[in-house]
Amino acid sequence: MNRETIKEILQNEGILPQSKFGQNFLCDEEIISSIVELCEIGREDRVLEIGPGLGSLTYPLSELTSNLTCVEIDHGLAEYLSDNITNARIINADFIKAKDLGFFDVVVSNIPYYVMTDIMKKLFGEFPKARKMVFMVEDEAIARIDCGPNTKQYGPLAILCSLYGSYTYEFKVPHTAFVPQPRTTSAVISFRREDTADILSPGFVKFLNTCFAMRRKMLKKNLSQMFAADVIDEAFRSVGISENARAEELEPETFSCLYAALKK
Ligand code: SAM
Repeated sequence: MNRETIKEILQNEGILPQSKFGQNFLCDEEIISSIVELCEIGREDRVLEIGPGLGSLTYPLSELTSNLTCVEIDHGLAEYLSDNITNARIINADFIKAKDLGFFDVVVSNIPYYVMTDIMKKLFGEFPKARKMVFMVEDEAIARIDCGPNTKQYGPLAILCSLYGSYTYEFKVPHTAFVPQPRTTSAVISFRREDTADILSPGFVKFLNTCFAMRRKMLKKNLSQMFAADVIDEAFRSVGISENARAEELEPETFSCLYAALKK
């Protein structure tokens, strides 16, 4: 889908892009092909796309699998896509609130930037069995995704990304690749699942949020909202975490071991 096609659809359908939903539609055909290629979709793959918009990625994705589910918050866009794409299940819903979507092998999204963290947390918590995830994000948000302990940005999102699997920064995307153009540069990133993802679940996401609820407080204090004191003490001993540890000091794998010990 190129710039002219997108402008034409917007005009013919009377659609005004809504900035509150982060609507910047991808119009660079080379970038679209590269993203779709990165998804490595096979015929039988169950694919989830969040925020299909006008279908820049949806059309080429729908040619690769007959098992494509798209979740779009905007009623007008969801209706437009349902009328025009035959080979995909279009669900008009807020992805953050959507339930019972099924199982997926591949997840792809040109993520609406205002809700990036919540979308990624939900994906890693609820769809950790997916083999591959490919995202377009704001370039400056990478600092929150690709960072380690003892940095300002380190938190639940970075830990989930690290435990899900191997991360690749694929390429930068200039603001000129969208209609309308955002102010910032974007980037395409991908994750390939590894066995460390076995720990991921909605409960684990909740546990991480609790660990970081008050960043400057000791981890033990934060966890006391969720577990009894003796359970925490025993788990800290068995994993070898110091009494005074703060969440921001611990490696992603330590959270994985701690959660397993607490759930015993
Ligand atoms: N995939 C299209 C593309 O690449 O051109 C559109 C990408 S645009 C950056 C983000 C899309 O996500 C918009 O269509 C927007 O309406 C949709 N969206 C925003 N918030 C959403 C949410 N909470 N759940 C589902 N879709 C959402």
